[in-house]
Amino acid sequence: MNEPLCVYCRKRPVAQACRPFCSERCRLLDLARWVDGEYRIPGTAIDEPDDEEATDEE
Ligand SMILES: [Zn+2]
Repeated sequence: MNEPLCVYCRKRPVAQACRPFCSERCRLLDLARWVDGEYRIPGTAIDEPDDEEATDEE
């Protein structure tokens, strides 16, 4: 058995429901990375007070 690994974290085996990722979380993280055009991972508490270029898209 040689299961493919998640293309995002490359640590856990791919879940059939979330291919080619291991989980919904990795899928969203990868998607968010492309959407933002930079490495900006939601869920990581980056909350700098002087971030004037913060994206408020909600
Ligand atoms: Zn993953």
